Formats: sequence, C-alpha cells, structure tokens
Amino acid sequence: MQNLLDLTLPELSLWVEKELGQPRFRAKQIWEWLWRKMARQFSEMTNISLATRKLLEEKACILWPKVVTHQTSQDQTTKFLLELDDGARIETVLIPSVDHAGKVRWSQCLSSQAGCPMACTFCATGQMGLTRNLTMAEITGQLLVARNFLHDTRPDHPLIRNLVFMGMGEPLLNLKNLLRALETFNDPQGLAFSPRRLTVSTCGIEEGLLEFGRSGLAYLAVSLHAPNQALRAKLMPKAARLPLERLLAILKAYPLKTRETITLEYLLIKGINDNPEQAHALAKIVQKLNGKLNLIAYNPTPNSPYQAPEPERVLAFEQILWQHHVTAILRQSKGQDIAAACGQLKANFALQKLRCAPES
Ligand code: SAH
Repeated sequence: MQNLLDLTLPELSLWVEKELGQPRFRAKQIWEWLWRKMARQFSEMTNISLATRKLLEEKACILWPKVVTHQTSQDQTTKFLLELDDGARIETVLIPSVDHAGKVRWSQCLSSQAGCPMACTFCATGQMGLTRNLTMAEITGQLLVARNFLHDTRPDHPLIRNLVFMGMGEPLLNLKNLLRALETFNDPQGLAFSPRRLTVSTCGIEEGLLEFGRSGLAYLAVSLHAPNQALRAKLMPKAARLPLERLLAILKAYPLKTRETITLEYLLIKGINDNPEQAHALAKIVQKLNGKLNLIAYNPTPNSPYQAPEPERVLAFEQILWQHHVTAILRQSKGQDIAAACGQLKANFALQKLRCAPES
C-alpha cells in the first residue's frame, strides 16, 4: 500500500498516471485533499469519481502518525508524543507567540529522525541513539497532526506560521527525506510555506550543508554551543569531527538566500560555556560570519551532568555580545514544566511507564 503522504507532488503525479491510469490533474486534486483539506479518508474526496476512489482504496492509504499523549504547559506550549507505523516514537512541539495584532500564532518544532546518532552530551535525544530516519510522510505528518489539534483548517490563514527542525534527530543526516518534506511544505498548491518560514537546525554535517544550501528550500541554523574546538569536542564529540575552523569556512561560503543571515545557536550551560572570555570569543566568530545569534538557556534533562545558567550570567554574556554589536536574541525557554527540551517527553514517558508498572 502506498501512503500518499509519502509522495511529493511530482511523485504523486507519476503515481496517479502509472497506478490509476489517470491524467496528472487528478494528482493535483488529491494533493489538495491531502495537504489543504487534510482528508484522512478517500470517501471525503467528493470531486473524484467513485470508481477512482475505489481504486485508491485498493492501492493506497493516508497514514498519519498516531498521538500517544500530549501535554500542554502553562504557557500553552504543547508537546506531542507520536507513534509511527513500526512502533517507533518521536516528538513534536507547538510553541505559541503573539503577533503585532495581538493574535496567537504558532511555531512547530519537527523531528527528522527517531532518536539521533550524534550523541551530544547535553541532549536527551542524543543519549537515546538512533532508531531510524523518518520518511517524508512521518516528517510532514507531524504538521498534519498539529494542525488538526489546533483546528487549523484554513490554509490561506494558517495558525502554524513557522516550522523549525529542532526536534529529535540531525536533519542533514536524513537529507533526502528532509528535502522532499521541505519541497512539500513549500508547494504553492499545498501548504505554501515560504522558505523564510522554514528553518533547519544542524550540528553541522559537511556534505549535507552544501546540498541543503543549494536547494534554497529553507533557512539554516547551526548549533555551535562552544567558541573553540576543544570545548565543542567535549560537548558534541561526533559533530566536532568536523573541526570548528572548517565548519566556519563552510559557513563563510554558504549560499545564503536573499535577506538570509546565518543563525548560530549557542546553548548556555552553567560553568561550562557561559564565562565572559567565551562571550568575547563567540562574538568574534559571529562577526566574521556576519551572522546572528540565538542564545538558549540550557533546559536541564534527567540524569544530565549539566545545569541551567544563572540569570545574571546570561545577562552578562548577552551584554558582551551587544558590546561587540552582535545581534543576540535570548530565546525564551518555553514549556519547562512539560519537559519540552529535545527528547525529554519520550524519555520521561518511558520512565513513567516503568514507575507505573506493578511491583513484582
Ligand atoms: N540536530 C540538530 C537539531 C536538533 S536539536 C541540531 O543539533 O541543531 C535543536 C536544538 O536544541 C539544538 O541547538 C540543540 O543543541 C538544542 N538542545 C538540545 N538539548 C537541549 C536542552 N536540554 N536544552 C536546550 N536546548 C537543547
């Protein structure tokens, strides 16, 4: 059975021709049902003939990820634990913000892999290891689940405005399906996300960076987390196999889109990377790249050796960056009461299940 959500529009057009013996415009109709109207049954596709719908039932399915559980934080951040076809579990998070007109808009944080092979020492997902890459349907299906949850059914006035690949996994290690998912998000006849509303966050994978950049499908954010190679190698041992110097050289030559600047992410961890000298060194890196910086206060995860930074240290760190005229935005940590840091819900859910198991 072909899950139709696993096909890009050109792929769906070919499939419709080959498997249904139907003209290509039929694919556009089906596409609209899948992505704009979020149909989950072929019987909903009322502008398609009964005979074609019957053929679709025989040859295809529409498979969304299943919601195992969701939690909503006091600040309305909502985190979903999703189960995939083979039982693998992933997370996605909806984060609210208020726009200039006072309306609530949402950003969604998407996963690209079940687990992650990069083993960054501070990251809950990194501690799980990799289960597998997600299919395109599993990446894009996260958005369908969230839109359904918010009753976000008007594609011309979407409530979910931004998608960021900052959930589980290293997106550039699942490049093929990442690019297919971005192409689907971009499609003007589907969800029509412009590239500036799509951000892919990576710890920096050499081959992937170039190909992703050339695709022009989304903006780039790079997890730096340390201003020198030695510290980066301690915090992100696998990512740091691409030496910092080399990573920065690649970013210097990165093909930016119009109005795009490189975004660097820097996680502030108490006593590890939050001192003033490190702030000065970081400022120089950001300046050389003409980039901007997202500072994130570490969100402690269970069994982690690291702690959140002191608020005064964060402020002092930020001020040094400003002195260097570096644009640094402190990303407010949302959803702390629901363990919204990468990989935490899955980890906590497994713990809860263990705790709830009857004692023998
Ligand atoms: N693999 C990609 C994307 C996934 S993680 C990457 O490395 O960029 C998205 C961001 O969340 C990364 O910057 C990551 O370092 C950060 N992160 C991981 N664990 C965190 C935690 N406990 N608190 C705050 N940020 C965390």
